Amino acid sequence: MTPSFEDFEPLYSADQLRERIAELGKQISTDLAESDNLVVVCVLKGAIVFMSDLIRYLPHNVTCDFLRLSSYQGGTQSTGTVRFDFDLTQPIKGKDVLIVEDIVDTGLSMHFLLKALSAREPRSLKICTLLDKPARRKREVPISYTGFQIENRFVIGYGLDLEGRYRNLPYIAALTADKQAALDGNSEDALHAPA
Ligand code: 5GP
Repeated sequence: MTPSFEDFEPLYSADQLRERIAELGKQISTDLAESDNLVVVCVLKGAIVFMSDLIRYLPHNVTCDFLRLSSYQGGTQSTGTVRFDFDLTQPIKGKDVLIVEDIVDTGLSMHFLLKALSAREPRSLKICTLLDKPARRKREVPISYTGFQIENRFVIGYGLDLEGRYRNLPYIAALTADKQAALDGNSEDALHAPA
């Protein structure tokens, strides 16, 4: 059964997010200071809030682009087959590309995306994720920048949704431990498809 908003508790406050994102932004700016061709790629829809805050800490000459992935849904379980819903609007050959993601969970989406984008021969290709849930990893992916590592709990807010809702919460909330245990006992992947 889908959890309700009452089943969640605060995990990271708006202040904690702001502080960590400022640190990430400064680190990325230092690392990519020599780049005059940085493309920041927002993975829709979950990364919209993170991306819009992060880019304000980056050099003024960055460009932004967007793509959307979806994973084939066979019934309630994600099968792990990822594809583009829509793609970038510009070639990235010879450019520095920073993928901005909301959360790396199984790693299937980022594994697919790294492979697809590296075939276009960017000068560099890095992942920046706000959240990382390593316990659920099915594919190892190199992550250059991580906001927070979290345990296996379903999270919402700050871009992350529950069936389309709660992306606009200014903080991140996690399913309580007992509700998460109940959910895991029922259907392991039902709440983790790309969105
Ligand atoms: P993957 O399993 O391919 O690493 O993650 C793909 C996508 O699943 C993420 O980009 C995110 O949209 C969604 N996802 C994974 N874990 C969570 C979670 O705890 N909460 C929400 N709202 N979405 C998640």
